Amino acid sequence: MVGVERFELPTSCSQSRRATRLRYTPKIVKLLVSKVGAHINDAPGLRQALCAGKCLWHPYYSLAVRVSRPPLTAFTIIEHIGPKAQACDNTPPKEFAITGITACRCRQPVTPSERVLMTAQLIDGKAISRSVRDEVAAGVSRRREQGLRPPGLAVILVGNDPASSVYVRKKREACEETGIIARDYSLPENTTQESLNQLVDDLNSDPEIDGILVQLPLPGHLDDDQILLRIRPDKDVDGFHPYNIGRLAQRKPELRPCTPAGIIRLLDSIKTPYKGQHAVIVGASNIVGRPMAMELLIKGATVTVTHRFTENLARFVGEADILIAAAGKPGLIPGEWVRPGATVIDVGINRTAEGKLTGDVVFAAAAERAGWITPVPGGVGPMTIAILLQNTLYAADQLHD
Ligand code: NAD
Repeated sequence: MVGVERFELPTSCSQSRRATRLRYTPKIVKLLVSKVGAHINDAPGLRQALCAGKCLWHPYYSLAVRVSRPPLTAFTIIEHIGPKAQACDNTPPKEFAITGITACRCRQPVTPSERVLMTAQLIDGKAISRSVRDEVAAGVSRRREQGLRPPGLAVILVGNDPASSVYVRKKREACEETGIIARDYSLPENTTQESLNQLVDDLNSDPEIDGILVQLPLPGHLDDDQILLRIRPDKDVDGFHPYNIGRLAQRKPELRPCTPAGIIRLLDSIKTPYKGQHAVIVGASNIVGRPMAMELLIKGATVTVTHRFTENLARFVGEADILIAAAGKPGLIPGEWVRPGATVIDVGINRTAEGKLTGDVVFAAAAERAGWITPVPGGVGPMTIAILLQNTLYAADQLHD
């Protein structure tokens, strides 16, 4: 690499080359794990990723892989981070063994036109939620084979809010698909607190019901907090009860809030190396931001939670290796704020004037800088329902039978 155009200046000083390698190799290792899913010591995994043509675009860093290729044993670049490194052989030879990896620093950042090449990989929430649902379906079948009843989920909807009706229908359909029994309770807008309390009490003592879900928001005359406290913690499949939040805070999660748990599944699917990473959460609500912080702490990330009173949000976003945007403000985070190579999880679901769904992050610009990014729709959204089903199965398997 030394002497290759755009990369380190030719130098006979081995100490300065060594200093460069020491400074940048850890960053390359992090990028390797987060982008191709292979560690520096995982030569077969790395080879597989490189042969599959996985690119590692990055404006500043390049990766040199030392390969043994008879009769030559030398530094050869077989994949590089950053466009158009000269003397780059992008196609790995058929027979080779990786014997070492080192990092080099580009002499100058790429130009804006070259930066277009730096596209993030999409985290496909639809596909990952499908695998969660398949696991749940397999778990339900296993119960049937063992002669156990299928898990049961009670879904309570009060009033006629159109968005809530759509969510409830989707949840019911997802239950049916996996073999979970969904029981619908559609109550009129003028339902009293007493009758709603009574229904929750009845479901709490119903042995065929493993999960109780009250679709929020409730009409104004009903008290959300009172109802959520009334649901038995072992049937609280939304994971909102103080008992379940407390378990999560003490690193002993049981029924976990669905959206943050779904995000962890997304991050796990791309083999996020949490330890040593800075996770920045935008939004501090009880259902997303706060439990998300606890989930990421359990994983070993260093966590910052920002909210409406945070000053200089751009600074925090720019420091994030993992960015979780959950403010519910369309376009709050311009793509230019995103740290190159970061993983961007956009939880926001906002409807534009034209009726389109959009997230909190300006997607196109962020995708040019991020390493991984979730789309809206099709990212976090499908995971929330999938984890709800997973929680219902967990309650049946672990807490009731
Ligand atoms: P919320 O309104 O309860 O909380 C929003 C949070 O964002 C608050 O903590 C607030 O302080 C913070 N915030 C607001 N403006 C900010 C700013 N300018 N800078 C920094 N922080 C700011 O919302 P919520 O219920 O947590 O939902 C957030 C978004 O996530 C919404 O768009 C919602 O639709 C979406 N959501 C999606 C899913 C899903 O399954 N994909 C699930 C839940 C919520």
